[in-house]
Amino acid sequence: MEQLDGLWRRRVASLVEEGIIRSEAVRRAFLRYPRYLFVEKRYQSYAHVDEPLPIPAGQTVSAPHMVAIMLELAELERGMNVLEIGTGSGWNAALIAELVKSDVYTVERIPELVEFARRNLERAGVKNVHVFLGDGTKGFPPKAPYDRMIVTAGAPKVPEPLIEQLKPGGRLIIPVGSHHLWQELYVMTKTEDGEVRKKRWGGVAFVPLMGEHGWRG
Ligand code: SAM
Repeated sequence: MEQLDGLWRRRVASLVEEGIIRSEAVRRAFLRYPRYLFVEKRYQSYAHVDEPLPIPAGQTVSAPHMVAIMLELAELERGMNVLEIGTGSGWNAALIAELVKSDVYTVERIPELVEFARRNLERAGVKNVHVFLGDGTKGFPPKAPYDRMIVTAGAPKVPEPLIEQLKPGGRLIIPVGSHHLWQELYVMTKTEDGEVRKKRWGGVAFVPLMGEHGWRG
């Protein structure tokens, strides 16, 4: 554990040096919830490597730099109402919860991963993340509207329900692309008068967002 922790601390320090982790809040969240707590035992010694890692059901937990980039783009603040789509291991949701210090909602379509994430979150001592089984391309209406929505799988287009469930002044971070493994990361903002603006961050590679408003299986 001590060795894993040392390696993780070095990873976090490099992300800071590289200018990828820019805020003290994200740095602290990364140190509080190391990625090794959210992968199977056999992958723990690779958790500090800056690459995606396998999780059950053929999915992945994203590379540390990618998670940091999305969290920095989200500019999360204490008390924000946040929805994550694509729970996977639960790691990103734990980081979001540490940043907003309030309840976080996250939707996953694969039952095995809902269980995996719940177990990881419980073991890591995270109490304010609520994992739901469902099709996240429809958002999560019971807790809408959201200040921030973070999608961690690649969509063919921006799902309309997500825009509808965004608060005025809110922000949606989503990888979008016509190829199911390569996308561009969009930062969508809804202005106070309801207009939607899009900024492109750059190229990324996520597993596909499957569902009614995503890729059809
Ligand atoms: N955020 C995750 C983490 O911290 O481990 C990594 C997510 S992984 C790159 C993408 C996840 O999105 C997969 O677990 C996949 O099953 C899920 N997914 C794909 N389509 C989905 C959908 N329509 N609704 C919810 N989850 C979906």
